Amino acid sequence: MQIKNVTMDLSAVNSLQYPNDHWPEIALAGRSNVGKSSLINSLLKRKNFARTSSTPGKTQTLNFYGINSQLYLVDVPGYGYAKVSKKQRAEFGAMIEEYLTTRQELNGIIILVDGRHAPTDDDVSMYQFVSYYKIPTLIVATKMDKVKHNQWNKTVANVIKTLQLNQRDQLQLFSSVTKFGYDEVWHWIESHC
Ligand code: GDP
Repeated sequence: MQIKNVTMDLSAVNSLQYPNDHWPEIALAGRSNVGKSSLINSLLKRKNFARTSSTPGKTQTLNFYGINSQLYLVDVPGYGYAKVSKKQRAEFGAMIEEYLTTRQELNGIIILVDGRHAPTDDDVSMYQFVSYYKIPTLIVATKMDKVKHNQWNKTVANVIKTLQLNQRDQLQLFSSVTKFGYDEVWHWIESHC
């Protein structure tokens, strides 16, 4: 994908605030600190568009990044962050659920997992949720520059087994440091828009 222009003027906490351009949307979700902002910045070829931060849980809205007036990447707030209150967690949950279950324009979701470890219970819950709603899913295992090459097969096997990855969904290894997997992630996005 050749990025001609990117807009980021839209954030939403409920359906009334979603954009109404009817461009296809691809959501990105993952545990806080998994590398979601870094992936988004890599995809957009921007340094600090999606704010990377050492403070997990900072993004509390759905953020819509418009690309080439053609599609939206939708940054979903990071889940599984222990320090938010139960009330906040329930509010995030409701916001994410409303978006994922009602949004007509949603064509697929990228779920990020940390390639250095087995997916967590939160990752499994998220994947089960989107599978139940039959949302086409790409799992992206991040931070692969930190995993030795001879362990990559193990990462793949671990993710497939722990998530019980469906045949219709795909897995891509990725590093925002080396950009490994960049073309493949874009290819998946374009083929779902
Ligand atoms: P987010 O909370 O999911 O948006 O995660 P961030 O993108 O802010 O990344 C969290 C931390 O992981 C930051 O310190 C990043 O520099 C680091 N990080 C993200 N992606 C990678 C990667 O592919 N490789 C390495 N080595 N570090 C990464």
